[in-house]
Amino acid sequence: MKLPEKDIPLLDLQSGIEEYWDELQAAIARVLRSGRFILGPEVEAFESEVAEYLGVKHAIGVNSGTDALVIALRALGIGHGDEVITTPFTFVATAEAICNVGATPVFVDIDPATFNIDPARIGPAITKRTKAILPVHLFGLACDMTAICETADRYKLKIVEDTAQAFGGSHQGRKLGTIGNAGAFSFFPSKNLGAFGDGGLIATDDPRVAEEARKLRSHGGKNKYLAEKIGYNSRLDEIQAAVLRVKLPQIDQWNRARVQVADEYFAQLSHLNSLLCLPQQKPHVYHQFTVRIPGDRREEVRQELLNGGIQSAIYYPVPLHLLSSFSPVQGPLDHSELASREVLSLPIGPSMLQEQVEFIAKTVHRFLSMQQA
Ligand SMILES: *Cc1c(COP(=O)(O)O)cnc(C)c1O
Repeated sequence: MKLPEKDIPLLDLQSGIEEYWDELQAAIARVLRSGRFILGPEVEAFESEVAEYLGVKHAIGVNSGTDALVIALRALGIGHGDEVITTPFTFVATAEAICNVGATPVFVDIDPATFNIDPARIGPAITKRTKAILPVHLFGLACDMTAICETADRYKLKIVEDTAQAFGGSHQGRKLGTIGNAGAFSFFPSKNLGAFGDGGLIATDDPRVAEEARKLRSHGGKNKYLAEKIGYNSRLDEIQAAVLRVKLPQIDQWNRARVQVADEYFAQLSHLNSLLCLPQQKPHVYHQFTVRIPGDRREEVRQELLNGGIQSAIYYPVPLHLLSSFSPVQGPLDHSELASREVLSLPIGPSMLQEQVEFIAKTVHRFLSMQQA
């Protein structure tokens, strides 16, 4: 077997940077020469370019995806005493944001086939205090927004979409993050659209939510010396915006490249589908390519991959309803708990090579067929 020249990282950020080096350097130099570093012309231009790309009226740049969630919730009037229904099978920031606005996350279980919140379980979790649903398009796969919107309409709930892992993804022709009342995006470097530092964005069609979010990101007022409410210092900086403006026009091509890598995984691993539960649901922008390794063999598979120089990761090892920080502990939520014992995310990214996928697939195949024999 031909070995790859070097180890295979979970995500190769470097090659993407190399390819656009000149444009990135020019964009950063432009900011350095301008002397404007926070909320200037680059941020304004980026906001209008993203709004156009997403097909949404307002885009508001903030400091991180976490802040985008916090500010979106606050801008929708969610706070103390309110309950927000969400998934426990997500990055901690999703539920942390709910707590940080003073509300309570109510966790409902996932659909084991998609890893996303199970819309059928939302209704039974609604109480008089429920104000919003916070679905997460996990790993880049769209949630069932039709069902979620129906429930939200019926019970007059707001929807904030956690789109941190799904920039550029869509559901029935609409971009994710533009279907609910507000969408929260992250430009953390490893996300599908990543900056060179922290960054985030709120998308909304509602002018009042947009205005509120603009105030909140900048100390709670239109003018920072005339705070109308307690806000935040959560602004997107000019260098990140300039970098993101170089990257935004490439996002569709990069997401297509991720889908191609996923297709290569399917081609190489489909004979093991019953052992691996390949993530075949669509539409997907494959922020992660996450399989399941049932039984107790996940650690062995990880080790076998590592011996071959292949990184992998476990997203997420503990579902949030079991974390003491979100006490009282809720549940049991069987599908989320089983998923956290079985999931394994394999390397994926727009610049991944076919040989690398083949090598990973062969390594997994060799191990699993040895086990079966
Ligand atoms: C990354 C991420 C966030 C938080 O984004 P940051 O920019 O890191 O603050 C929130 N939710 C999910 C699902 C994420 O993956």
